[in-house]
Amino acid sequence: MRLPEIPRYPLTFGPSPVHPLKRLSEHLGGAQVWAKREDVNSGLAFGGNKVRKLEYIVPDVLASGADTLVSIGGYQSNHTRQVAAVAAHLGLKCRLVQEKWVPWDDPVNDKVGNILLSRMMGADSRLDPAGFDIGIRDSWKDALREVEEAGGTPYAIPAGASEHPLGGVGFANWAFEVAEQEKALGVHFDTIVVCTVTCSTHAGMVAGFAALEDLIGVRRRVIGIDASATLEKTRAQLERIARRTAEVIELGRELREDELTLLPDWAGDRYGIPVDSTMEAIRLGAELEAMITDPVYEGKSLAGLVDLVRSADIPKDSTVLYAHLGGQPAINAYHSLWPGR
Ligand code: PLP
Repeated sequence: MRLPEIPRYPLTFGPSPVHPLKRLSEHLGGAQVWAKREDVNSGLAFGGNKVRKLEYIVPDVLASGADTLVSIGGYQSNHTRQVAAVAAHLGLKCRLVQEKWVPWDDPVNDKVGNILLSRMMGADSRLDPAGFDIGIRDSWKDALREVEEAGGTPYAIPAGASEHPLGGVGFANWAFEVAEQEKALGVHFDTIVVCTVTCSTHAGMVAGFAALEDLIGVRRRVIGIDASATLEKTRAQLERIARRTAEVIELGRELREDELTLLPDWAGDRYGIPVDSTMEAIRLGAELEAMITDPVYEGKSLAGLVDLVRSADIPKDSTVLYAHLGGQPAINAYHSLWPGR
């Protein structure tokens, strides 16, 4: 099906806001930097990139007759919080597997932020000691079986909604939303910077911007900044999901190598653990723009953007769009990074 024909269940306020980051741009002294804000895209429990992905998955959920959404993520997963929000919004039950993806031993890590919000929304959120992996997990299959054994009808949403066949469609559509906003604002974004972990956000954008390029003939750079710190696995997943999404939206051609850019330099050693560049980027976003980013995802992609603009890898005459994908609730579990005086 072509993109406009794919069923979409609205969960967002409409197009997410796009605005210039004037003080950050001035500070960096290079390209003009703008942001598109998925962190404020919806009224459902603080929104985020998964709400956009779920807009294209909900029609299938409703058609399936399921009564329980089942999903998986880390203790501070933004994804599972957004699944819990959508379940509450639709009047469905929600079963979440929360694994110990990050060796972050703050005593409130499994109590505040995202996991607290999921519990408030009535999700059955259970902790599991397994570590980080973007693939399909046994604990998640067990949860599906348990829901069935209890007489429920589960609907499986994999980590980050990325392995779902429709997981990339929301961000393919994002590309067309950007094109509409460019027209309205009289601006052209030649470069997009996005955080990449389970990959369907970035992969969806790749497919969407490829379709847009074929339609209007304008090439742009979509730069994924890895935050998984498992680069080869993530690169393979990115390529696979981008190709699958291209097929779903009937792109009608192969994706080129230059359309699949994933940069490793800001992930640090481990998923979920910030490094100096993350902390500097979080500080710049917060102090110059009151734009809050988190130590797991957006702080790392913002660090990539900061360095690429400073080094003029993104040239001075560029206008770059930073995709802010959400993630702020997790900062509560990272309070010790900003001790009081
Ligand atoms: N940013 C935030 C705030 C997220 O919650 C996620 C989810 O994993 C990402 C970025 C990465 O998106 P994706 O998993 O689609 O690669």
